Amino acid sequence: MSEQTQLPQYGYVGKIAWIDLTDQSVKIIPTSNYAPKFIGGRAIATKIYWDVTKPGMKALDPENPLMFMSGPTTATGIPTGGRTSVCAMAPNNLPEQFCWGNIGGWFGAKLKFAGFDGVVIVGRAEIPVYLKIDDGEITFHDARNLWGTLTHDCQEKLSLIHGKEAVSVVIGPAGENLCRNASINTSNDNVAAKAGFGAVMGSKNLKAIVVKGTGDVRPYDVDMVLKLRKTMGNPQRKANPVEHLDRCAFRAHINFETEPGAVKKTNVSCSHGCNMRCNLFVLDTKSAFPRKVTNQVHKCIGVYAFQMTEDCGMSPGMFFHTEKNHNQACLGQGAQVPPPPDTSDPYLEELMTRRPGSTMNFWDGDYDRGNVINDLCTQYGIDKWDVIVWLMTWLVMGKRTGVLENMDLGMEIDPGSEEFMKHLLDMITYRKGYWGNLFAEGMARTIRTLGKQKYGETIYKGIISNVVPGLQLDIPISFESSWGHCFHWQGRGFQGSPPPGYYLSSTLMLMTNTRDAQTNSHVHGTLDYMKETMDAHKACLNRKVAENAFMGEIKAEMKECVTCCDLQSPQIFWPDMECQMLEAATGIKMTEEELYLACERSKNLFRAILMRDSDRCRAQEEPEAYRPLQYPDCEGQTVAPEEFAKLVDLYYDVWGWDRETGWPTRETWIRCGLEDVMEEMERLGKLPPDKSSKEQ
Ligand code: SF4
Repeated sequence: MSEQTQLPQYGYVGKIAWIDLTDQSVKIIPTSNYAPKFIGGRAIATKIYWDVTKPGMKALDPENPLMFMSGPTTATGIPTGGRTSVCAMAPNNLPEQFCWGNIGGWFGAKLKFAGFDGVVIVGRAEIPVYLKIDDGEITFHDARNLWGTLTHDCQEKLSLIHGKEAVSVVIGPAGENLCRNASINTSNDNVAAKAGFGAVMGSKNLKAIVVKGTGDVRPYDVDMVLKLRKTMGNPQRKANPVEHLDRCAFRAHINFETEPGAVKKTNVSCSHGCNMRCNLFVLDTKSAFPRKVTNQVHKCIGVYAFQMTEDCGMSPGMFFHTEKNHNQACLGQGAQVPPPPDTSDPYLEELMTRRPGSTMNFWDGDYDRGNVINDLCTQYGIDKWDVIVWLMTWLVMGKRTGVLENMDLGMEIDPGSEEFMKHLLDMITYRKGYWGNLFAEGMARTIRTLGKQKYGETIYKGIISNVVPGLQLDIPISFESSWGHCFHWQGRGFQGSPPPGYYLSSTLMLMTNTRDAQTNSHVHGTLDYMKETMDAHKACLNRKVAENAFMGEIKAEMKECVTCCDLQSPQIFWPDMECQMLEAATGIKMTEEELYLACERSKNLFRAILMRDSDRCRAQEEPEAYRPLQYPDCEGQTVAPEEFAKLVDLYYDVWGWDRETGWPTRETWIRCGLEDVMEEMERLGKLPPDKSSKEQ
């Protein structure tokens, strides 16, 4: 393998800051300690975590290293490179485990302009502080006058102090109060939310990080960068005026009348240097707070606060990719840039027959309520997934089934009511009373405290299939999937649309992760692949499903280290796109296979952390991932545990992991250049016996 061992002078800026809040000290670590063997972003953070943490550490302990890591494409002008990895032990995972998030915004790029590829933050300040990173200098500032502020208010105050060119990441009151579902928010409302990293910042008494930088980041090949800017994604460079609409139609299935002209929207990029405009920017929306009116940025789940009557819909080419119509992840559903379908596609008619999988009628359209709920989550700094998709749906289904009849929340339970949601989120954010304290522990822990059998497993009978008219789809009142996270593209609940080839792959990805993996590893597959795997039972015996999940996982690692973005990668009809991005940024030439191997390395190191700290093995992760598959998809198909087990066998084979334990084999560790990790696994008794587990 022609792997480069020296840190190139292009793409990287060469330094990582180690910041200790306890004694207010800063150490500089050369990026070359890690890269290019670990390419960047999450891969570097994973290596640091492996090196510096010990089993037994808790998410809110001062030792938990909270890391913000850019990639070599960040700030080079290569589209999508502006996104940044956030990693640490996660408080909202069940159990707490090493985890990752990924944010847009300008923070990562500014960090590099200030001279750092990343920062590692440990310790706990005695009083609330914020950090200022300014052209190589890192200083600690008293944040007592910011503590308690809402996220937008905090960002505005920091802008007043440090100027408009300063960008920040901040926490809101939810993070300060150690709510397990607290987010870290950028200046443009991008968030690292699902893992609860806002609580990690809160536990460190760290309110915000402000960055100013005037340096530059030199890419290796400017012409190549310019070419990538023209060829990646579906560039939307046309004028982008604000539209005044009389309908709320952010997605095909979220479409209802509003006051004339109530919706004022446009599309914007989420981060530095991107050529797409995936974020929906909505202006003059109703606020939950005294400012009365605010602006909001949406990319994904927030739109469900407006209406939830049908499954998440899809556009032609979203699940079934053809060469002429293949949309990335959720792109094109209307919340983001809506590319019209290519009508010369011979498969278009077939693609257009796909539709939302089921109807559930949870709450009707209400533009103001949707805006207020989104505003509450953003300003308190709380995860919208935990609130909108899990808590709100659980309250609706729990109430309809009678499970919540003795629950006194101080108001009638009604997630369709703006006033109720204000009351509820205030209770949670400020941990008011028994219920506020309980919900602040996140949905997974709340349900266990109340009693999982009744409060998690009671069956709701109100979801009806659109695909098999009249078919009732019985699912539990709690949309819980694995590791303390909720359903996401698992073919059930509010997302019954994806076919088995999709949801089986997404379940495998979830199995080997520590959180909902579908925010950066949405499944991608060709029309032929999806058609071949429409029978869930046969699909469990099809190695292509395992290979599809493997490709998704590898590409997810790539997105987190190169850095790239789920809404432009992977392009299954342009497989070496990320190689070209890496070369343009750094000059490192890698074949597709070499980049795959580098990503396998970081994924296996991630697995080693889980094996060392959390006893990760097949016996733990297979039943954890299986849960949603026992319930019917939109065609009424369920998957038996023994069928899923056969698919897991195939998946482990593809990774080079032992079928019995799920642990990487000696051959796999050596292939990935992780002999030192292998020795540690051997010492822990977690190296499988020497035999090939590959399918013969
Ligand atoms: S493709 Fe969209 S979501 Fe991804 S980095 Fe670009 S603007 Fe952001």
